[in-house]
Amino acid sequence: MAGLYIHIPYCKKACNYCNFHFSTIQDSKAEMVDAIVNEIIFQKNLLTEEIETIYFGGGTPSLLSPAQIEYILNTIHKNYQVSNRVECSFEANPDDLIKDNLSAWKEFGINRLSIGVQSLNNPILQWMNRTHTAQEALQNIEIAKHYFTNFNLDVIYGIAQLSHQDFEFSLNQILQLEPAHISAYALTIEPKTVLEKQVKQNPQWLAPDEWYLKQRTILIEMLAQYHFEHYEVSNFSLPGFASKHNTNYWLGKPYIGFGPAAHSFINPKRWWNIANNNSYIKHEVTLQKISTVEELNIQQQYNEYMMFAFRTATGGNFIEIEKLFGEQIKNYTKDKLWSLNRSHIIFNGEQFRLTSEGWLWSDKYAVEVFLSGSAC
Ligand code: SF4
Repeated sequence: MAGLYIHIPYCKKACNYCNFHFSTIQDSKAEMVDAIVNEIIFQKNLLTEEIETIYFGGGTPSLLSPAQIEYILNTIHKNYQVSNRVECSFEANPDDLIKDNLSAWKEFGINRLSIGVQSLNNPILQWMNRTHTAQEALQNIEIAKHYFTNFNLDVIYGIAQLSHQDFEFSLNQILQLEPAHISAYALTIEPKTVLEKQVKQNPQWLAPDEWYLKQRTILIEMLAQYHFEHYEVSNFSLPGFASKHNTNYWLGKPYIGFGPAAHSFINPKRWWNIANNNSYIKHEVTLQKISTVEELNIQQQYNEYMMFAFRTATGGNFIEIEKLFGEQIKNYTKDKLWSLNRSHIIFNGEQFRLTSEGWLWSDKYAVEVFLSGSAC
């Protein structure tokens, strides 16, 4: 089981909170698609597994023309062994959900949309510098529902200027759209973003921890009422609609990422492409030239395993830890876990996981169990 990720590094506007790799200058799109297609062909022998998931992310993949998307997908199908049951996800912004796009995407085999709604509160959307209004999002998602039933909506919570009541109202409207999946992220102040500068000038825009916690509680309770399963720190799905692509990342399955800034992982190697559109396009596609490669040692592999185990409802498994890392490390893990706050961790036979409240502390707990050189 393996996945492919395609990074489309263009956006119409820069959202104030975003530090992903993208450019608002779109005139190199055609060359970029050619370079991505070349990379897809160049890497074709790296994976022996069947491709179970394909994910178009970015940036904004919905800025590509249908012909460009078809070109990329055809190249993948010609060069990789793609499963008949492939989950093919595509990130789109609400303003790109027009009939011609939707019918083309569906015809090409895309079967899951991930839509960046973020909020349905107009002053907040404007403040974020989003390209759409709440009304456009509502209207266009209703159109998209005629083509796709399996869709995710992205939501941001913990915004200081959005009252709890307005957050609840916005979330309720989002749920009326009947998504199968919700990805909900706390607003964070990332370095080198417009938001970082804004918060320096307006420190009151930084919400206190209790504000985040309150909106997270509203979110978790409302989604539970709508029968969503909280299967990862930031992800909720109706039964059977968890993202296979992201789940495979957390399970340590192999994947290749194409495009600038895209990451890849085939155990024990991880590599990432240069995060610069012009350099990516100009360079001949060779791993050495466009990528930085790192080989994970056992200690790093264990730390990654634990980091993912602490983020997901599946959690980790002691038998698996013994198989992957040996008995000594399994015993070390047990000792460490038993010293954590017991109300935040659930043991079920050989399985363990953090509770939903424990996820709030997942980074801290991960650091506590991480192996340093001496523990191996
Ligand atoms: S949030 Fe999405 S649409 Fe906004 S700048 Fe980032 S990648 Fe682009």
